[in-house]
Parts: sequence; C-alpha cells; structure tokens
Amino acid sequence: MSVASVIVDVAAKQTDRAFDYAIPDKWKGIIVPGMRVVVPFGPRKVQGFVVALKEEAEVKRVKPIADLLDLTPVLTPELLEIGHWLTEKTLCFMISAFQVMLPAAMKAKYDKELSLLSKEAHEQLHEQVKPFFQSRSSLKWSEVEKTAAAPAFHRDIQKGLIEVVYVVKNKGNKKTAKGVKLNQSLEEIQQFMSELNKQAEKQKQVLSFMLNRNEEVAIKEIAEDLQITSAPIKALINKGLLAETEIEIYRDPYQDRYFKPSQPFQLTDEQAEAIAPILHDIEENLHDVFLMYGVTGSGKTEVYLQSIDQVLKKGKEAIMLVPEISLTPQMVKRFKERFGSKVAVLHSGLSTGEKYDEWRKIQRKEVSVVVGARSAVFAPFENLGLLIIDEEHETSYKQEENPRYHARDVAIYRGQHHQCPVILGSATPTLESFARAQKGVYKLLTLKQRMNKSSMPSVDIVDMREELRSGNRSMFSTMLFEKMKDRLEKGEQIVLFLNKRGHSSFVMCRDCGYVPTCEHCEISLTYHRYQNKLKCHYCGHEEHVHTDCPECHSEHIRFFGSGTQKVEEELTKVLPEARVVRMDVDTTSRKGAHEKLLNKFASGEAQILLGTQMIAKGLDFPNVTLVGVLTADTMLNLPDFRASEKTFQLLTQVSGRAGRHKLPGEVVIQTYTPEHYSIQLASQHDYDAFYKQEMEIRKMHKYPPFFYLALVTVSHENIAKVVSVTDKISQYLSQKLSPQTTILGPVASPIAKIKDRYRYQCMLKYKLEPSLIPLLKYILERYQAEMQKENLTITIDLNPYSMM
Ligand code: ADP
Ligand code: ZN
Ligand code: ZN
Repeated sequence: MSVASVIVDVAAKQTDRAFDYAIPDKWKGIIVPGMRVVVPFGPRKVQGFVVALKEEAEVKRVKPIADLLDLTPVLTPELLEIGHWLTEKTLCFMISAFQVMLPAAMKAKYDKELSLLSKEAHEQLHEQVKPFFQSRSSLKWSEVEKTAAAPAFHRDIQKGLIEVVYVVKNKGNKKTAKGVKLNQSLEEIQQFMSELNKQAEKQKQVLSFMLNRNEEVAIKEIAEDLQITSAPIKALINKGLLAETEIEIYRDPYQDRYFKPSQPFQLTDEQAEAIAPILHDIEENLHDVFLMYGVTGSGKTEVYLQSIDQVLKKGKEAIMLVPEISLTPQMVKRFKERFGSKVAVLHSGLSTGEKYDEWRKIQRKEVSVVVGARSAVFAPFENLGLLIIDEEHETSYKQEENPRYHARDVAIYRGQHHQCPVILGSATPTLESFARAQKGVYKLLTLKQRMNKSSMPSVDIVDMREELRSGNRSMFSTMLFEKMKDRLEKGEQIVLFLNKRGHSSFVMCRDCGYVPTCEHCEISLTYHRYQNKLKCHYCGHEEHVHTDCPECHSEHIRFFGSGTQKVEEELTKVLPEARVVRMDVDTTSRKGAHEKLLNKFASGEAQILLGTQMIAKGLDFPNVTLVGVLTADTMLNLPDFRASEKTFQLLTQVSGRAGRHKLPGEVVIQTYTPEHYSIQLASQHDYDAFYKQEMEIRKMHKYPPFFYLALVTVSHENIAKVVSVTDKISQYLSQKLSPQTTILGPVASPIAKIKDRYRYQCMLKYKLEPSLIPLLKYILERYQAEMQKENLTITIDLNPYSMM
C-alpha cells in the first residue's frame, strides 16, 4: 500500500473528509490505520489520523507524509469505527470525534517557527528583524510575538524573506528517569565484587541488587530501596560496571499508597439474584443492557466488583464509569483493594501527564480495568467483557461541547460490538432508562434492601415560609438547629448540603427587587466575599459592590442566597463548639485537597461536613446520623423540563448519606415549596410514585421519554441577525418535517446573552423523523460561510441535557 487516507487536524466543514498522502518508502508496511502522522496541508504542517490505506490516490499528485508520530496505532479499528458513528450521531467533525477519544497530552500542539529563506535575504531584512537572525536561520514565533518587532516581521514575511513553518510538537510527553543496567558479564561482576574492599560495601550492595533484578532500574529506586545516596551507583558507572540508561516511568498518582487486598463478600440473596443474569451473559458472550435499580447502600458496587472479577477471570477487560464528583478516593480505594495494579484510574483531578500515563497502561494492556469519568468510555481495550455506568442518571455523562455524545450511548454501542453486557446502575434511574426497562428493552435488576437492613432514613420537610413568619430569620430552621445540637452532644456527625456553587450568592434590592446582572450576559452577578466584588460566572466580568440601589437608590441592597462560606460563618456563630469541614469549588480546587478534607471528617476531627453537589454522592461515613438540606428548591426553578427529576434525584442522593450503617439516620429538608411532588416523594423514598407522576407530565408536554428532542441554538453579536437566522431555520424545518413534529421557537434562550453574543433557539420534539439528520446537516452547510466569516454560531444538540 502506498497511499494513506488522512483526517487532518483542521476542524472545518471543507476539511471534514479524508485526504490522500503518499507513504514514503521507509514507512511502507509500518504505517497502518489509527496512527497519527504529520502532513503538509496548504502552507503548514498539521497532525492527522490515518484512517485507511490504498494502492492509488484519487488525485494525480499527492504530497508525502512528513512525519510519523506513533509506532503502534493510538486508535483501534473499533475506535475508528466509533468515530464515524459519532459524526452521524452528534453531527461533529471527524477530527473532533477522534480527538475526544485520546488523552489531552496527545492533541496536536503547534509551534510556529520563522525561518530565513536564504542567506542573501538577511541583507534585505527590516532593521528591527535583523538582530534576531544574527547567528541563526530560524527561531520560534513566541520569541517575537510580544516584542515591538512583530509588525516588522509581518512585513518581511509578506515580502517573502521569512517563511512561517508550523512544527507539530508533542508526541505525547513520556516521563523518563535516569536508570542503570549491568554493563559487564556475570563472571566479571562477581570477580569485581570479590575484590572490592570493605569501604565499598555499598557498591557491593548495589551490584547484588542489580544481579537480583537483572533489568534496568531507576537510580532513585535503588537509592530508596537500599537507603543509600546515589554516590556508589555513580562510582560503579564510572568504573564501567553499570551503564546509564533512560527509563520510561509512569506518573502514578496512587503509587505511594499501599492498598490492602480485599476479598469479595458473600452476596446476599438479592445481590445473588441480580448478578446471575450478568454472569450468564459474561459466560456466554451475550450482550444485554441491565438497569440495576438499587437504593443507595444496597450493595450495587459489590455486584459490579464481582462481575468485573468474573470478566478478568475470562481474560477480558472491563470499563467502569463513575461521575467525576463521585470518583472519590474512597471509590478508587475499593477498586484498588480488589484488583490491585490491574486498575487504571482516569479523572480530571489528574495532571495531563498522569492521564496520559494511565491511558498508556491501558493501551499496552498492562491493566484490564479502567475506572473513570465520561471519556474513559473510549478506553482502547480490544477484548471488552463488561461496561458499567454507575449513577447512570448523572448529566455529566453527556458532553456539553463537540462532540455532544452521551457516554451511555457509546457504552451500549461498544457492548454490542464486543457482545458483552452493559450495566447501568442507579438509585434514581433516568425516566428514559426506567421506561426502557419497563418495556423490556433493558433488563431490570432490583435491589430493594439496604445492606445493613436498616430502613431508609426518616425525612422531615420544613416549610421555610413558616419559619420566617414565626420570626426565625436564620438559615437554620428550629428543627434542624435542635437536631444539630443533639448530634453534637452525642458525638455523632452531620452532613449539611447546599444546592449551590460554593460562593454563589446574588445581590438584590429589598425595596424594588433589582438584581444586578452582567452587561454582557443575561445572568445575575455573583458576590465574591474575599475580593468584595460582583462577578459573572460566564464571562468573568467584574463590578464593584453597590452601596445603594442603582434603580431606586435604596440602601437596602443586600446579599441573598447563602453560599457555603456564609453558612460556615453562621455555623461558627450559632454552634461555636462545632468543627466544620467545608467542601466546595473554592476549598477543593488544589490537588489533593478533596481527600484531605474528607479524611478530616472521616477521622472524626470535624463533626460537620458542609458542602455542595460534590458531597451528595458516593460518600459513606458510618457516624453520620443527620443530613440537612438547606434549600431544596434552588434546582426546581431552573428553566429545564428535567428540573423536577433532578431535584428528586439530588434529594434522594443526599438523604442516602445518612444512616448507612448501624446508627439510624434522619434527614431534614428545608424548602419554600414543601407541597411540590418531587420534594414530597423524595422524602418518602418513593421512586415508583415519582416515576408515574413525572411520566404523565412528560407525556402531556411531549417530552422524553415519549418524544425525542433536538435543540438548535444560534448566536451572534447582532440580535437581528440571530432572530432572522433562527427564524429561517425553524421555517425550513417546519416545511420539511412531518406534521407530528413540534417546533418550538424561535425564542430567546434561557440565558439570552453570553459574552455579548445574543442567543436564540428552536427546539424540536419528534417521534420518528428519518430525514432529520440530513436536514440538520444541510442547515450547517447552508450557513457554513457565515459561520466562518461572520462569526455566526449554530450548535445542534441531539438529545440535549442542558436547556440553557
Ligand atoms: P451501593 O453501591 O448500592 O451504594 P455498596 O456496594 O457500596 O452499595 O454497599 C454498601 C455497603 O455494604 C458497603 O460498605 C459494602 O462494603 C457493604 N456490602 C456490600 N455487599 C455486601 C455483602 N454481600 N455483605 C456484606 N457487606 C456488603
Ligand atoms: Zn431598588
Ligand atoms: Zn458576563
């Protein structure tokens, strides 16, 4: 094969196809599909993926491939195929589909280099440019970019004196360490050892260590193991007995820790019944999608662990997805304890290098289990035996940028490819999944009982309007306060949950209701206490805090909503004896902070854990007997048809943190809308009733799971343009689509302006619309030019999870 079809790293409509390149002789037989290459593309060089090989090119003259970046393909044939499928499913570019499957470290980065075209050219250079090329013929653009000489450079580039060259950096950054290996025959080394004198005892130790290992070892490791400095090792290198090498090492964030091996539990009857059909599928290489519907603490994770164990015994591999926020050290520990070094962990807390290293362990088949967040679904395993999605209802499984894929769809697609089971687990499944299980599309597995046979915690709902009427202006209701005092006296622990971003509090005028909003985005500004400033969370715009209302000049302009900081302050006032751990985006942004704070709580050093969404899931502390939800309604008021579902899920998850072990648990939910069914039913732990009621509402309003949704969002600086484009799109669609399909809009998006760009949308609700994808593709093509030249954006989200 002498020609390679390459998808190039230029995300645009015109380049969204394979281009042919000649394979130079030296790489014939070496280059295969799935490898990354560097190819000339127009005036520059770009990275690309080889997708196919062929004998002859479509066009007469093809340029040769400039460089080869991989020696083994980074995308397996299966992943290449998934790439094609993603472009159809999410309407993304090929290149975006491939890139999302790889760790960030492997994405192409380009260095722009400037090189002098000829020696003679030096004379003609601009006076400001000349000194740069005094003793060399090329330099990096970054050196020039910010200097006063930049315009002069532009001039000389235009004159053709200097050429711009794009150099692809970054073949992935392997980390290496200095190591040594034996450099003499065994006899010679033994001879030498016998002749060493007493003072050289350490050198002797090193040599016998190396004889034992009989491989390359990092100098650091030898020194640590033998408790010596590197001096004796250096001495041996100088004597020629050891030779220096570069060893590739992994950056393993968990390497310093020892995990005590754990044994599988004897399964309960319920667990045994749930695992049986999964094990059957694993044994017979069958594909089913199982929905494991089990209350929190019912032993789902144990079922996952034992299913994975079975997969490993068959010599196959498993992927387990966990939402980012529940990928806690506790979770990782459970997997490492069971499967030891066979586990790779992928999550956003890792540095780019660490992620790359974990990924390479998978690629080299050094591990057979991956635990990770969304993108781990693309782990390059080739012999998959099981895929699991824990907390399947979590919206973080949907990527909110291109490609807008849902990990559940990818998992099921891969499960079909490998003929292996897929498990979706949740205490509060999405309506979509539960409806599929009801229809028999998924197989339902139910775990009704909690492990410790304890009943679900009792839940009290407190009407905060009543509290206000009776004169309690604090953020703690009388009931919650009394219960907190009681737990502190008993030495038990409390979790306080605030359904909000850590520092979120907005400002409102108590007299006229004025709320300061961002002038670039239609969204209320957030008060940041430490800087004493108002900030926009979308664009970063900052303002000074008002002392009086700009509308009515009242002085009663105040901070509203209680961020975690504010709750913490109030706690220290009303319960000064309590030690509090606060967990939110502010306190956990530093690496390792998350774990440190949790340890402080786990060890009993603190009695109250106060936090946002991130404490709602996965945490398991035996001593927690009280959970307080400070404001249950914040999520209910979002302009999203899933608002009730999300509220129900969240309240159920939070309640599940209490009474997981011997001590019984209590939950207090504070709310301004106590009568709302999602709050009522969450307090009764009644998923089935919630499912019934919510399904009726969805049916009535034509929402999923009864209808599919597609959301088209248009944005531009000019509002007239936005409205007219959105209008044309919705008219076009209404002509072409079937009359059963509803088209809502054009209307302003819930956030009508972001970063000075207006946003309009139209939403489609459809049941069966085979021509929808081609029509949407046509729209993207039709506006291609305007999107490129006039900065118009059209995003299409099929099965959207974010309506904003
Ligand atoms: P879930 O994932 O449904 O929240 P877990 O698997 O975490 O539930 O189980 C809850 C607790 O019960 C954990 O501490 C776990 O170690 C324990 N557990 C699970 N299965 C068993 C079993 N068969 N026997 C004893 N303890 C178990
Ligand atoms: Zn006012
Ligand atoms: Zn803004």
